[in-house]
Amino acid sequence: MNEKEYDVIIIGGGPAGLSAAIYTARMGKKTLLLEGQMYGGRAATAPHVWNYPGFPDGITGSELIDLMVKQAEKFEAELKYGTEVVDLQFKDDVKKVVTREETFLGHAIIVATGTQNKKLRIPGETEFIGLGVSYCPVCDGPLFRGLRVAVIGSGSEAFEDAFYLSTVANNVILITHSPDIEAEQKLVEEAKEKSNIDLVQGKLLTIQGEQVVTFVTYQLFEDDFPQELPVDGVFVSIGGVPLSTLVKKAGVSVGEKGCIKVTRQQATNLTGIFAAGDCTCGGMQIITAAGEGAMAGLQAYRFLNKQSK
Ligand SMILES: Cc1cc2nc3c(=O)[nH]c(=O)nc-3n(C[C@H](O)[C@H](O)[C@H](O)COP(=O)(O)OP(=O)(O)OC[C@H]3O[C@@H](n4cnc5c(N)ncnc54)[C@H](O)[C@@H]3O)c2cc1C
Repeated sequence: MNEKEYDVIIIGGGPAGLSAAIYTARMGKKTLLLEGQMYGGRAATAPHVWNYPGFPDGITGSELIDLMVKQAEKFEAELKYGTEVVDLQFKDDVKKVVTREETFLGHAIIVATGTQNKKLRIPGETEFIGLGVSYCPVCDGPLFRGLRVAVIGSGSEAFEDAFYLSTVANNVILITHSPDIEAEQKLVEEAKEKSNIDLVQGKLLTIQGEQVVTFVTYQLFEDDFPQELPVDGVFVSIGGVPLSTLVKKAGVSVGEKGCIKVTRQQATNLTGIFAAGDCTCGGMQIITAAGEGAMAGLQAYRFLNKQSK
């Protein structure tokens, strides 16, 4: 096996990819994990994780990811961050994984590319990215200390974002953008009790300002006239879209919404190619991504052992 040839190459360094790396490296397979940005993916941006087993007092997303990285490195998985995969060639038995700088060869591939933030697609959203519009409260929240921000979304993530921002900003207005609230009831009750969080069941219409965001317009679901709300920032938290364009181009079957199609063993339609985590539209949680990553790791190990017989 040459320097750039690996038993397993994992694409994506979130909980799914890191869990897969822990499994394959620990079972003695030469493992390379390529992460396009920083380790941790969406999980690293979770302000506080209360539902990952083993941490009864909760843990921040970034602390949890640091532990996963340490564990993968302990078993000698080779991890590279800031290394985006830009092309995949799966035609031959030995597959090619191409980054901007080099090409790696892998006998089994695990795709764990997660999702990218879903956009609201309303006027002002794109124009004000970095000028008041953000998708990451943990990264950008401190810029809004003492100010007034809106969080857009109706799922548990949006509520968690609002709680985190309520510790930094003076006021947080949580605009559901959807008539149904999908978050856990416990979170909804907690939000209602917080003195500096206001819950608005309405649809966001526009984000406006001069150089930076100064106000949004929205419409309550029970009303039919728009209202203006002065805010300094808007945090969009409406979930993610699977990152599957690359693998689709390489021949992997992808469903209607971009979800990579897998069996219960995380196998795709192509031999030796597995997928795990949010890119398969599984549970969209850290524990389910980690579980799928572990299963993909186990199956890649079995596949490689069969190949070498
Ligand atoms: C604010 C927030 C709070 C959350 N809170 C919780 C919580 O409390 N509990 C919980 O269970 N879940 C929570 N989640 C959901 C959880 O973070 C995700 O379900 C989980 O991170 C999915 O893991 P993953 O490994 O599948 O994908 P991701 O974590 O998205 O990781 C995918 C990784 O792949 C990389 N990648 C993508 N394309 C490429 C490429 N071409 N080349 C190289 N690398 C690539 C990305 O950069 C990314 O790092 C939260 C999410 C958010 C956004």
